[in-house]
Amino acid sequence: MAKVTKDPSVEYDKTSLSVNEAVENIISHIQCIESDELLPIRDCIGRILAADVVSPINVPPHVNSAMDGYAYKHSDSTAKSNSQYKIIGTAFAGKPFDAKVGSDEAVRIMTGGVIPEGTDTVVIQENTSVADGTLEIMKNPKLGENVRLAGEDIKRNETVLRKGHKITIADLGLIASLGMGELRIYKRAKVAFFSTGDELKSIGSELGPGDIYDSNRYTLFGMLKKANVDLIDMGVVKDTYEGIKAALVDAKTKADVIITSGGVSVGEADYIKDALASIGRVKFWKVSMKPGRPLAFGSIGNAHFFGLPGNPVSVMVGFHQFVAPALTKLSGAHYSRPLQITAITEEPIRKRPGRTEFQRGVMSQGENGQLLVKPTGDQGSGILMSMSRSNCFIVLPLESSDIEIGSSVIIIPFNEVL
Ligand code: AMP
Ligand code: MG
Repeated sequence: MAKVTKDPSVEYDKTSLSVNEAVENIISHIQCIESDELLPIRDCIGRILAADVVSPINVPPHVNSAMDGYAYKHSDSTAKSNSQYKIIGTAFAGKPFDAKVGSDEAVRIMTGGVIPEGTDTVVIQENTSVADGTLEIMKNPKLGENVRLAGEDIKRNETVLRKGHKITIADLGLIASLGMGELRIYKRAKVAFFSTGDELKSIGSELGPGDIYDSNRYTLFGMLKKANVDLIDMGVVKDTYEGIKAALVDAKTKADVIITSGGVSVGEADYIKDALASIGRVKFWKVSMKPGRPLAFGSIGNAHFFGLPGNPVSVMVGFHQFVAPALTKLSGAHYSRPLQITAITEEPIRKRPGRTEFQRGVMSQGENGQLLVKPTGDQGSGILMSMSRSNCFIVLPLESSDIEIGSSVIIIPFNEVL
């Protein structure tokens, strides 16, 4: 079948969108998956809470000692140094001393030991001297010193973590300290992806004339892995209208999100947009950015669709800018724009006004602690080496032109996505 052109169902803007408009547009079309599962806490790192976590207990549950020392009753009359107390027993962590302590008595206490009834202060052992079962306080602490209150960390019924929060390693400890073994977590989004191009060969096969190895499926794999989604790798699809349409129809039955690379511009063999328009909706397909100007966003049935350009750097930039925020919102997490970090450029940067550029840079720390950045040589959208050598994007605004050495520029360090 011949390539379909000028399909009226294609709803793209004639003019390009800015990067921010494109992100806002995408975000406005994405809703959280809203289906959840109960998972053991060890399986929850990087996953998104589907319900608030409310503490069933006080943490710590008891008033206890922060230090090894002696528990006694502090009062103004005994708040001077060299006061003496009779030692009547010991409180260990997990093994409380259960008798009442008189005002002239003290209990040897270990860190985490419950503060015995009748006492309110712990003197550290370094500030005492003990002889014949009698404690002498050499340096008096303040009332309540070295005592940790019940619920000091977390109060019973307190909301500890909110729905939409991404579970960190510290959270695992926090949740374990509440005695909770499972969490209600949003299910992972299912993401299907394939590469398009007659020239693409898979690793292990011989390259014929004009062929190249498919690298986009590998960078997409890595970025999707980090995004904590379920992956469906659909391989390479040839540049035919029917083939691409069939692959998209197949993908929509399996996935919440479909990502393709290549075939999205206006060349003779670029079928993505037309195939998408015949079975779904295209929302826009041009963003004033470099690299990665042609970009299709749309839907097929209930699945969201991202058609990234074929050039390997464009795929990574497009994923970072558009797909990652969409996956964040889809997964139930709160989406926020990345922090704007600035660095001083150590080299002049070439830039023509008209598009937001995502140049690849290496950031480092200068002698005085300031953040420095250098572009990584050739910035062509096919030069994957520029991504491999870099540790950040240098983001140059739409309207900016050449940047002088020593100027302040915005950088986005590679982290969660790359
Ligand atoms: P396209 O967007 O299909 O016109 O592709 C733009 C450029 O990216 C061409 O040079 C393609 O050969 C190259 N390209 C497309 N897909 C891939 C891929 N999966 N891996 C590596 N390079 C690719
Ligand atoms: Mg192609």
